Amino acid sequence: MKKTFFNFNNTYHKLPKTFYQEIKPKPVSNPKLIEFNFELSKFLNVNNSVADQDQGKLIFSGNNLPAGAKPIAMAYAGHQFGNFVPQLGDGRAILIGEQIAKNGERFDIQLKGSGRTAFSRQGDGRSPLGPVIREYILSESLHYLGIKSTRSLAMVSTGETVLREEPLKGGILTRVASSHIRIGTFEFFFFKEDFSSLKKLADYSITRHFARKNKNKPYEYLLKSVIKLQAELVAKWMSVGFIHGVMNTDNTSISGETIDFGPCAFMDEYHPTRVFSYIDQGGRYSYINQGKIMLWNLSKFAECLIPLLDNNFETAKKKAINCLEIYPKYFEECWLDEMRKKLGFKKKIKDDHILINDFFKIMQSNNMDFTLSFRNLSKITSSKINSFFKKELKASKETKNWFEKWNKRLETENSSRLIISKKMLKINPIYIPRNHLVESVINQAMRENNFSKMRELLELVREPFKEKKSKNSYGLPPKPDEVITNTFCGT
Ligand code: AMP
Ligand code: MG
Repeated sequence: MKKTFFNFNNTYHKLPKTFYQEIKPKPVSNPKLIEFNFELSKFLNVNNSVADQDQGKLIFSGNNLPAGAKPIAMAYAGHQFGNFVPQLGDGRAILIGEQIAKNGERFDIQLKGSGRTAFSRQGDGRSPLGPVIREYILSESLHYLGIKSTRSLAMVSTGETVLREEPLKGGILTRVASSHIRIGTFEFFFFKEDFSSLKKLADYSITRHFARKNKNKPYEYLLKSVIKLQAELVAKWMSVGFIHGVMNTDNTSISGETIDFGPCAFMDEYHPTRVFSYIDQGGRYSYINQGKIMLWNLSKFAECLIPLLDNNFETAKKKAINCLEIYPKYFEECWLDEMRKKLGFKKKIKDDHILINDFFKIMQSNNMDFTLSFRNLSKITSSKINSFFKKELKASKETKNWFEKWNKRLETENSSRLIISKKMLKINPIYIPRNHLVESVINQAMRENNFSKMRELLELVREPFKEKKSKNSYGLPPKPDEVITNTFCGT
């Protein structure tokens, strides 16, 4: 009898066949389980004995399917850099089942890099190990920073070569997500004018994600919920200097989780128009554009829901627009909430946005490191600035003024500077997976087959607020020769 590692309860599989392709992962020649996420496994109620090398390498490579698995590749469409592609879909990922976690929540367990599917187009259905490592580290980091994200349960090397610009070691990531339903999944049916399937997808999404609060206007509720979740998500990204890099509608999850870690990165020096993807020449997905682009994506989602919002087109359109109009103000509020916390403000005061924006201007004009600036601001416990700012700041009148205003503003908090500082140190991280660190971890893994640096970095990003003296260098920006300007794109 097969050992039971998961307690799958598969619901997406019950939707019509137009929603997916039934397909098994293609076995790989020499799999090895490199990393297994015990903490996540416990939360998911997965039997930990699946992490034994002999089992794990077979399960997480897709060579053996666990009991209860119903493997499928999901269909979806999407706008990539503003251009509509009617069919994308899981070209290199296979959903093996839906796991019910200890708390009763449902999670997709998906193998990414598991072979060709009906949606692979020209692709090989595989993934190099580098992007698997990147996704594992970045998704863990976001999770521990309190930012919703898909997660990583396991990492496998395949023993096979994947051909990109050069031959690379292959890998498979086990991705865990609240669901893999994207705005692009709705676009897939909307484009085909298959409104019956569209309704099924919307109803399924509501049941799966928004059931508890679903009242009498279900589709408006769905739209408003996704709008709010995404506004909250993008504000959180921006609060840690995270740039997603490929905010296409197929990479926008309706559950509000960060999904798809392609050319994403945390900024070192603050620059509002920063991008990491070399194909994003126009800066469509730059740091500062993320809030606006999400509204663009959400407008595509709203468009898909028009057939469901009302039988009368004009009325439906009006309803969609009314929902979208929530976004700008709500996003601004979310952003302000995040930034207030970063500056030590609990109270909401009218002109806070000026103080916040001025701090960003100071960072920009002095080429200051995003993470370290907020971290060092958190360490100030009196009206005097610390050595970090003394060194970084040109003694301009503006910056002196800013600190005076900030001190005054903190006086209105009715809290001691020590307490404020302690709170800020729990909001402003020291350890983020800086690009040069991720790159060096990947290099060590690819060249030496050594994962020790990767594990060290993982350990640090799982406690991002806790400074460890012996790990000082992990909290520092790159030296000039370590700076990475582009991140993985051709994954
Ligand atoms: P992404 O850039 O990861 O969001 O992927 C965009 C689309 O390309 C999705 O439909 C993917 O499944 C597909 N895709 C990306 N890489 C591959 C690959 N190596 N083989 C097959 N399909 C791929
Ligand atoms: Mg994608």
